Amino acid sequence: MAIKRPSKSLGTPVRKSVTSPGLRHVDVSVPHQMVPGELYVGWLCKRKSCGLVIAISPPPAAGKPGLTESGDQLAAIKCPHCGDEDLYRWSARGEHKYAPGGLAT
Ligand SMILES: [Zn+2]
Repeated sequence: MAIKRPSKSLGTPVRKSVTSPGLRHVDVSVPHQMVPGELYVGWLCKRKSCGLVIAISPPPAAGKPGLTESGDQLAAIKCPHCGDEDLYRWSARGEHKYAPGGLAT
């Protein structure tokens, strides 16, 4: 059974992006899903004025048996906080505390 791909389902035009074939696709959590003070696995935004945690969304429970940890892949990730898109190394991810507004401690 062939799956028809809708030709014009996306309302947003594809603009110049750093995304290219071979990059890992990573879903990130949206800010309203995140709790200040909680630890999240992901990266810190590369934008100095932002620097908030970009949290990796937990993978769906079923479907993909074990994400393949295949080395040092790059992922093009758009920061859910400031909207800046940049490349992040998959192996560089770590646990970071979500501290919006520059909360101390
Ligand atoms: Zn950011």
